[in-house]
Amino acid sequence: SLSGTPSFDEFGRFLGFRGIGTDLTQQRRSEEEINRLAKYDSLTNLPNRMLMRRTLDETLQKKGDAAGGGCALFLIDLDRFKNVNDTLGHPVGDALLKQVAQRLTSVIGKIGQVGRLGGDEFEAVLPGKHDEGTLSDLASRLIQQVSMPYLIEGHNISIGASVGIALVPSEGCCADALIRNADLALYAAKSAGRGTYCFFAPEMHSEAQDRQTLEADLRKAIARGELQLQYQPVVNAKTEELSGFEALVRWHHPTRGVVSPAVFIPLAEEAGLILSIGEWVLRTACLEAAKWPENIRVAVNLSPIQFVEPTLPATVMSAIANAEIQPRQLELEITEGVFLAENDATDDMFAKLKAIGVRLALDDFGTGYSSLGYLKKAPFDKIKIDQSFVRGAVISGSRNSAIIKAIVSLAEALGMDTTAEGAETQDELALIRQLGCSHIQGYVYGRPLDADGVLARQNSHGTLAVAEGFRSSRPERKTMLRTVAVHHDSHVYTGRIRNISATGALIEGLWHVPEGTLLSVEFCDNQSINAVTRWSRDDRIGVEFASAIDLNAVRAVPRSLAS
Ligand code: C2E
Ligand code: MG
Ligand code: MG
Repeated sequence: SLSGTPSFDEFGRFLGFRGIGTDLTQQRRSEEEINRLAKYDSLTNLPNRMLMRRTLDETLQKKGDAAGGGCALFLIDLDRFKNVNDTLGHPVGDALLKQVAQRLTSVIGKIGQVGRLGGDEFEAVLPGKHDEGTLSDLASRLIQQVSMPYLIEGHNISIGASVGIALVPSEGCCADALIRNADLALYAAKSAGRGTYCFFAPEMHSEAQDRQTLEADLRKAIARGELQLQYQPVVNAKTEELSGFEALVRWHHPTRGVVSPAVFIPLAEEAGLILSIGEWVLRTACLEAAKWPENIRVAVNLSPIQFVEPTLPATVMSAIANAEIQPRQLELEITEGVFLAENDATDDMFAKLKAIGVRLALDDFGTGYSSLGYLKKAPFDKIKIDQSFVRGAVISGSRNSAIIKAIVSLAEALGMDTTAEGAETQDELALIRQLGCSHIQGYVYGRPLDADGVLARQNSHGTLAVAEGFRSSRPERKTMLRTVAVHHDSHVYTGRIRNISATGALIEGLWHVPEGTLLSVEFCDNQSINAVTRWSRDDRIGVEFASAIDLNAVRAVPRSLAS
């Protein structure tokens, strides 16, 4: 930079300029740097949120040019990144993010622009028209690449990724709407179990709204007394004596009816309501257990969020003291989820809870990130084998019984009890006992009862449990898809009954039958009924029987369908 003033001699002749010259290189460089920082993420060197927004705006404005308009937006969120950061420290987390950025960039290549929005959130803008198949392939490749192991400072790290995809559907779609849609799709991908991608669908808006209303209702549920506990029997496999009950929370919503905990517990976790709900469950269950014989335990489910709360031991102690029960009467069920954030605090929490004297059970074993390492380390008294292993164990050729057997011997070696969850039928029960599980919980010994139901049961049965239920549901279940012969004119077609009642049935396997077609449905020899097609879609029809049938008389109709 030069600045100067002309100078003249006494005769007015021009002599030259007098002034200062400065080297601006440094200033220019820092200006550039500031400019760059405003647009690029300093860790990964990818465009930041602001620049990505500008890229998106510009792409959307370019509609109708050579690229043919259109645009796809990917929102990419890493799974389990927080865990890496918490356990291995931020420098490792940073190094991981850099590598993720490289992998994303190499997958997207020239077809779009990848950016980092912050934290473990990335975005890709893909200008032009794309069909869903290509985008699906791309999303799968992104997830696959990000999920490959990383080696950082000697640590072998695995994470995953979820992707939400939104497309510019028609003219007039603005960037804000596109981002919101991709965000909803990302939410859906995460709810679907992470490690997957989802395209935006319009109903996601109403689902999001639904969630919001439900969340608002949930905030008031405790105060309004809409939450209730039910108790499901847990039975000693050898003696068939009752060993305790598992407390299961129910929400009686004034208009929606009973909302499943599988729906509202995750919602409560997201909305920060799980601590108050969890505490209410704990206190209520202990108070109820105080009315039972001392050797009948109560099991309470804990969310991983409760488990990392430093006040948990104090809450547990207070619930026990308030109800005046023995600590041994309380069993806390923890899922494998708590080990995701495994660190010193986890071990510390286990030690504190053990010191109180409560029992600890590992719930849903086999469904999560099963690792034998933590089984050895954590002081569990019991392993609960997830229902998915029990289900189907009796089907020949299933490997489930081998798995159950392995879990049982492992538990025995570690001095732990085992509870098989979800036993529904007599043959499942027989198999589980044979495999050596020490405890059984499932519909075969009873569905969850409300508090009064438990007391009534105590009066009628005492502590003896009685197995009730079908001898076997499996062969019957298979006949759910039972084949029927459908007669029309002089033709015979083969259909499968999907659903049946006394007055009609849903039959699959008959293509494009016009509504109103008269048919005869033959269940088995000599058992036919005339019917009329009431509706038809692709290969499914709904028929109405000419007269109501006696479901018990239709011998071949499986019990599970008839009931
Ligand atoms: P869970 O802890 O594994 O509980 C067992 C679930 O299996 C219960 O479902 C129970 O009703 C069901 N079940 C028991 N026996 C059978 C059977 O023979 N067949 C079938 N099909 N199902 C059976 P529920 O009550 O719907 O609870 C679902 C999950 O919600 C629980 O799984 C638990 O993870 C969670 N949950 C329930 N109450 C609470 C709570 O108070 N706090 C927390 N954090 N989670 C809870
Ligand atoms: Mg449980
Ligand atoms: Mg379970």
